[in-house]
Amino acid sequence: RLTAAALPVVLAFAVVASACGVVAGGDGDGYRIAFLLPENKTARYESHDRPAFVERVAEVCPECETIVSNADQDAAHQQAQAEAAITNGADVLVLDPVDSRAASVIARHADAAGIPVVSYDRLVLDAPVDFHVTFDNERVGRLQASVLLDAVGERAAGAMGSVVVLNGSPTDDNSAQFRQGARMVFEAGGVTIGSEADIPDWSPDQAQEAMERALATLGRDQVAGVYAANDGMAGGAIAAMKAAGLDPLPPVTGQDAELAAVRRILTGEQYMTVYKAVRTQARSAADLAVGLARTGEPPEGMRNSTVDNGYAQIPALMLEPVAVTRETIAGTVVADGFWSVDEICDGL
Ligand code: BGC
Repeated sequence: RLTAAALPVVLAFAVVASACGVVAGGDGDGYRIAFLLPENKTARYESHDRPAFVERVAEVCPECETIVSNADQDAAHQQAQAEAAITNGADVLVLDPVDSRAASVIARHADAAGIPVVSYDRLVLDAPVDFHVTFDNERVGRLQASVLLDAVGERAAGAMGSVVVLNGSPTDDNSAQFRQGARMVFEAGGVTIGSEADIPDWSPDQAQEAMERALATLGRDQVAGVYAANDGMAGGAIAAMKAAGLDPLPPVTGQDAELAAVRRILTGEQYMTVYKAVRTQARSAADLAVGLARTGEPPEGMRNSTVDNGYAQIPALMLEPVAVTRETIAGTVVADGFWSVDEICDGL
């Protein structure tokens, strides 16, 4: 029998064990929650989403097991991981799809097996989904583009230069939303897009190569600014420009407030990033998953929006992204406990 004094020990075990991807906690009467992450080149998934999710489930549901997998950018691998979770008796899938469209197969299988699905961060298209937890992704794109536009000013139109646009993975529905938001701002601001590429797998290496090609085509003095859809790709673009000897570097956008990006913003190599409170996102998804496991229904009061995934109107929790520049690091990522000043400064 568990005493109150033993409880923290059990919880701590649950946290560590599920962080390692092993089944933790739970007995015959418990629930299994599968958290399926898309990739690990982007730091957020392993540094924030995963630990926050595991910790929250353990906190609110001692009888729950959390099974975490990361598909490493491989949609077929993710499908196998999801099928394994279903076979192993998962009661809920929290799915961040590698490929928004291909993942409809996963959601349909789960639906056929009576297992609720939470679409996490990226939308699962054309399939039954119980809930979507995400950020206002179009607003992410608008924030990136408007901060960039302010930074480049008149240089981004016509003869004085143009902006290089590096969009995210074309299989990720979020990419289209980021691009849509950014495009609205660029059009309204009369920005000339000198070159635009969709980068497979959000690959920093491929972003670097696309930037090298853009520099060769446009001429290195013609790049007024770089719209990179996330921090990993911003890093690739910056590496290409440094290798080409650009000094000073033109303003570059990003997203995720990755530690490396926050440091680059401090040293002036990157102009901005977008902070998304992914710990809040992960904790909300954990609450949803536990509610769905226990009652089959999402908990009351989680929904503040609805999205159309091509199959139905999906109830959604849409969180607000925040632009971060050098002046606002302290008031955003540090104030929110995302990175401490020590963590940021240690690598500088
Ligand atoms: C997420 C971003 C992330 C990107 C690459 C997007 O769906 O919203 O936060 O940088 O995927 O993993």
